[in-house]
Amino acid sequence: MSAKDFDVLVIGGGHAGAEAAWAAARLGARAALITFDRSAIGRMSCNPAIGGIGKGQMVREIDALGGLMGLVTDETGIQFRMLNRRKGPAVWSPRAQTDRERYAEAVRQHLENCPNLTLIEGGVERILVASDATAARRVTGLALQDGRELRAAGVVVTSGTFLRALMHTGEQTTPGGRVGEASAAGLSDSLRQLGFELGRLKTGTPPRVARESVDFDRLQLQPGDDPPAPFSFLTHKLEREQVPCWITFTNERVHELIRANLHRAPMYSGQIASRGPRYCPSIEDKVVRFADKTQHQVFLEPEGRDSERIYVNGISTSLPIDVQARVVHDIDGLERARVLQWGYAVEYDFVPPEQIEPSLMTRRVHGLFLAGQINGTSGYEEAAGQGILAGINAARFADGQSPLILGRDEAYVGVMIDDLVTRGVTEPYRMFSSRAEHRLHLRYDNADARLTPIGRRVGLVEERRWQRFQDRQQRLETLRAALGALRWEGRTVRDWLKRPDQDDAQLAQAVPDLHEFYAEADVWASAVVEIRYAGYLERQMRAIEDARALEAREIPVDLAFEAISHLRREAVERWTALRPRTVGHAARASGIHPTDVTLLLVHLGRRVSVSG
Ligand SMILES: Cc1cc2nc3c(=O)[nH]c(=O)nc-3n(C[C@H](O)[C@H](O)[C@H](O)COP(=O)(O)OP(=O)(O)OC[C@H]3O[C@@H](n4cnc5c(N)ncnc54)[C@H](O)[C@@H]3O)c2cc1C
Repeated sequence: MSAKDFDVLVIGGGHAGAEAAWAAARLGARAALITFDRSAIGRMSCNPAIGGIGKGQMVREIDALGGLMGLVTDETGIQFRMLNRRKGPAVWSPRAQTDRERYAEAVRQHLENCPNLTLIEGGVERILVASDATAARRVTGLALQDGRELRAAGVVVTSGTFLRALMHTGEQTTPGGRVGEASAAGLSDSLRQLGFELGRLKTGTPPRVARESVDFDRLQLQPGDDPPAPFSFLTHKLEREQVPCWITFTNERVHELIRANLHRAPMYSGQIASRGPRYCPSIEDKVVRFADKTQHQVFLEPEGRDSERIYVNGISTSLPIDVQARVVHDIDGLERARVLQWGYAVEYDFVPPEQIEPSLMTRRVHGLFLAGQINGTSGYEEAAGQGILAGINAARFADGQSPLILGRDEAYVGVMIDDLVTRGVTEPYRMFSSRAEHRLHLRYDNADARLTPIGRRVGLVEERRWQRFQDRQQRLETLRAALGALRWEGRTVRDWLKRPDQDDAQLAQAVPDLHEFYAEADVWASAVVEIRYAGYLERQMRAIEDARALEAREIPVDLAFEAISHLRREAVERWTALRPRTVGHAARASGIHPTDVTLLLVHLGRRVSVSG
């Protein structure tokens, strides 16, 4: 290929790479996605499920911006459930079990049919850079393992768990980012040579067993919701038979076996030194950390409608194969199970994310963006959320436009990126609703109201989505008016809905004019949550205003933090390293006390009066 082949190059065809390439190309950038194996595009490395608490909201946000993940989940989902339903719509989180093979195939097909996008099979060895007149380095392209060079103004790296990756099963180690796939050593070296600090993390996966070898009759069935709620705002209705999952449990025998073999577990034998996700522990971690528990839940999840593979969710492990076999066969319902794939752990390099801007562009090399697991996160949704932003911003960078940055009060995606760049990570970062201080405002049902206008402004939301958004807003407006006007037993429906114990279904039954509105579950949920949580929402809006005031207070780029009177040494060091853009940004940095922020504000006040 010759010089200036593309505007944006994306390395990696995982969940971050797919969204980045899709976004950049749909914004009109000439984009290429380069990945080791074209048939592995969109592959789910671990469980075949999308969404969950905090994550489901992010998928709705990606969809509202014009992304891919929600659409593909609706196309290939085999079981849909709304989690947290008993806690009220403010924290409802959608989750879907998908058909693993069909999911990857659908992602690949969307990308193959996307105008402006070229898919290239190959391994990237090196990131090419040049220095400009100001000596700042900027990216110019990539060199592939086979000697090809590709040129572009923007490059997005989404290499996932593949950088210098090493897989562990007991004492056995194999280079590779995922079972049967390669490790990317050259790209890791290239990042280091460019001056990036790299860290090391680990994650793990459980065994998969053959469906026909499981004794389902004795297990608890877990059905999907009826009716199922779609992920994408573009999906009107999901009309498809749902597939059940099953629940079983570990037991004292299993725990005893694991305890007796801990010396052969790479995490405990010292073979793996890097940190894994605390919230998603291996079965050996659970047995050690929760020593008093006599059982742990295990979900048996089909990997597809017709797939023979069952994912054994809850026993992620890197124990040796002989121990894994005994663990599996000691679990109720799995006594005869035939194991199709053994569990393993993988260690990989990541780039500690304090080295990137909120736009996801690196501070060191202009035009170089990082997204997904490479930034220290874990999970498909976290990767996709960063991917769409990196794709948008790489395309905007190539076109000379300013970046799109989402605030903590606008999106979970904004919360995640701010957490990453401000606080860094010490273990794989996963989204939870508790990470979002404005979570009542960042709901699954209003993701479109929060983000579709932004997606439209940047050019990612096409006419069809825009029309649907406007229709939905119109229907919501009509419903709000109806709830205030319709009456039952002397009160307005709105007043009835304010009562926390009110049964919505009963009310809709009693007031015939409500039937049609109640049937449209997600519009109904939006209207009801606004009424039921009005007081909390008002308080949250005031908190958002306060936070915005701090965010609007910019810190001069040349501010010497050591000149701030009485500021603690830790705060000086933290802020000097972080170089916060605003007072809000400075306040959120880890280890910062409220008094540090007060001193900063006093100093900025003085500075303004001196210089102004
Ligand atoms: C064994 C295992 C267990 C996991 N367990 C969990 C879990 O329990 N919970 C959870 O939330 N998440 C888990 N994950 C993580 C989840 O798979 C990732 O978070 C998610 O896939 C990250 O998406 P990504 O796009 O950043 O990277 P990936 O999905 O890893 O995709 C990276 C892509 O980049 C390509 N690539 C890498 N380097 C190069 C190169 N030099 N040249 C060309 N192509 C390259 C790869 O081929 C691949 O297509 C697990 C992952 C693995 C491997």
